[in-house]
Amino acid sequence: TAARLGGIPPTIFTEMSALATRTGSVNLGQGFPDVDGPASVIEAAAAALRSGHNQYAPGPGVPALRQAVARHQQRHYGLELDPDSEVVVTTGATEGIAAALLGLVDPGDEVVVLEPYYDSYLAMIQMAGGVRRPVTLRAPDFRLDPDELRAAVGPRTKLVLLNSPHNPTGSVLTREELAVVAEVAVEHDLVVVTDEVYEHLTYGHEHVPLATLPGMRERTLTLSSVGKSWSFTGWKVGWATGPRPLVEALLGAKQWLTFTSGAPLQPAVARALDEEPEWPRELARDLRRRRDLLCTGLAEVGMDVRVPEGTYFAIADVAAYGWADGREFCLALPERAGVVAIPAVAFHDDVEAGRHLVRWAFCKEESVIEAGLARLREAD
Ligand code: PMP
Ligand code: GLN
Repeated sequence: TAARLGGIPPTIFTEMSALATRTGSVNLGQGFPDVDGPASVIEAAAAALRSGHNQYAPGPGVPALRQAVARHQQRHYGLELDPDSEVVVTTGATEGIAAALLGLVDPGDEVVVLEPYYDSYLAMIQMAGGVRRPVTLRAPDFRLDPDELRAAVGPRTKLVLLNSPHNPTGSVLTREELAVVAEVAVEHDLVVVTDEVYEHLTYGHEHVPLATLPGMRERTLTLSSVGKSWSFTGWKVGWATGPRPLVEALLGAKQWLTFTSGAPLQPAVARALDEEPEWPRELARDLRRRRDLLCTGLAEVGMDVRVPEGTYFAIADVAAYGWADGREFCLALPERAGVVAIPAVAFHDDVEAGRHLVRWAFCKEESVIEAGLARLREAD
């Protein structure tokens, strides 16, 4: 194995989902919904497969989808984008993260990143030769501390890798928190890559795209995907939007990673954005009920739960429940109760900050969440 992969543990999601399958556990770990997105969009994908969308798409993506993404950003956020030069289709936001970092970070460059972080950030910063400078969102509130952010930025800082709504904490960064990020980025002339895949999954908290803040449009690369908002995580279709130089840097790397993303799903995703614009809002309404069901249930068995503002994850402190170590708790839980959750320490550099935290997914049907909670109650 190459040195660039050294010390990166296998993704926690593979480990925990395999454990769930092996033990027949209720999987409240890996974040994927158990109900698919809109049927009309699935039909559009099937139609595209049958009607000749089966050869390479243009490198930056099928024009219909790039245009739909530009309309989406305009409609929701008032952001005007040129679909030909400021939008790229990616193979999920995951490829967007990879291509952005490979296209923008030189070996030795420092990348400021919120922790706990989505695990591919760690891997891709390292594979790009970058150096991680984490800024910790701390329990119980998981807010961004402006002083910690400022202290993380130095002469070698190249970019900030942001994520809001934030996985795994469920925090939605406020306009004030984002203003601090913007101020620091402008002052130090930094690029910001912002992962906004949960942009539509918020519960009474407004998602503010960083690119809409003064001075930020020209230095922000925004990533999203169809996976979360339209419940098609398996399709792996995402997009990156931003000013031409940043989009070109991303595309410079993407052309050698995948050259182009899968053709037949792209017209279908365009249809999701254009013809099913209300679908994510309805999903969020639904998820809010499931969030409350899960959080109430976890609190009832004695965990300290932080009710998330967005995403489909909730963090619980299991120390109050008698477990000092979240990883030990998660490894024992399948045998003990037949439930799988994710130890938050997998997303931390600051191991102490995450030691007693466990992430629970509520993008599952209510009956599944109920079953998981019933098992937790029985195991007590
Ligand atoms: N970013 C975050 C914060 C995520 O939670 C996920 C989904 N696990 C991704 C990126 C990956 O998105 P995609 O499936 O579109 O590659
Ligand atoms: N984004 C999902 C999560 O955080 C799934 C990630 C994955 O499977 N790589 O659970």
